[in-house]
Amino acid sequence: MIVIKNLSKNYGKSKVVDQANAKFEKGKVTSIIGPNGAGKSTFLSMASRLSEPDSGSIIVDCKELKDWSCKELAKHLSVLRQSNSVNMRFTVEEIVAFGRFPYSQGKLTEQDHAVINRSMEYLGLSIIRGKFLDELSGGQRQLAYIAMVIAQDTDYIFLDEPLNNLDIKHSLNIMKNIQRLAREMNKAVVVVIHDINFAACYSDSIIALKQGQVVASGEVDDVINVDVLSNIYETPFNIIEVNGKRMCTYH
Ligand code: ADP
Ligand code: MG
Repeated sequence: MIVIKNLSKNYGKSKVVDQANAKFEKGKVTSIIGPNGAGKSTFLSMASRLSEPDSGSIIVDCKELKDWSCKELAKHLSVLRQSNSVNMRFTVEEIVAFGRFPYSQGKLTEQDHAVINRSMEYLGLSIIRGKFLDELSGGQRQLAYIAMVIAQDTDYIFLDEPLNNLDIKHSLNIMKNIQRLAREMNKAVVVVIHDINFAACYSDSIIALKQGQVVASGEVDDVINVDVLSNIYETPFNIIEVNGKRMCTYH
């Protein structure tokens, strides 16, 4: 489990993350929602040690995040940032193989190849394994990056806006696979997401951020309600139930 307490960060005089608390458990999908500039990426980057907090604590499996060695951490925690542009020309298989770096340091063993194959198969990418990333659709490319993270085989997976630029079909595919990662592989998946209906349907818990503060967190029903959503997005919301799931309408 990851336990985050009173996490704060300033950029200059502005408080970007303000005393945030969170818990990420294995086997669960946690979504982070909130308007642009709410501090979601900053929060995620501190939780995954890409940036340092000003104060607060992050405990990963009973040990302070800052005390983990890089090598060990890379086997426990992986992160896909908001924008992933690789300048060099890599194939799907090559990019997925990067996920094995913490284990192989570049010399892939038979076992590494087996994991790479399994990761591509899991997301239905085997058929395009030899294609270059710049030959793929946005959705396929995003799946290739997610396969890389699967190949890294960490307990904790952080994904910052993995649905960016994706159509409904590809977004659904990715959300279903995120849920499978938690359910079938017992991963703790933390995903920053703008589509609150996807968050409502595919999360076990949700954290709502506004101006750096956690304004609501808990199970879906604790966060997907008119009061919380109208507050964070400063927009009127309507909530309906479809097949037992909460859906939001706004216009
Ligand atoms: P979100 O992901 O919720 O859209 P971010 O975490 O990216 O929000 O940014 C939160 C706030 O922090 C924004 O106002 C942004 O301009 C500011 N910010 C983010 N990164 C930096 C940085 N490296 N230097 C200065 N300000 C930053
Ligand atoms: Mg962001």
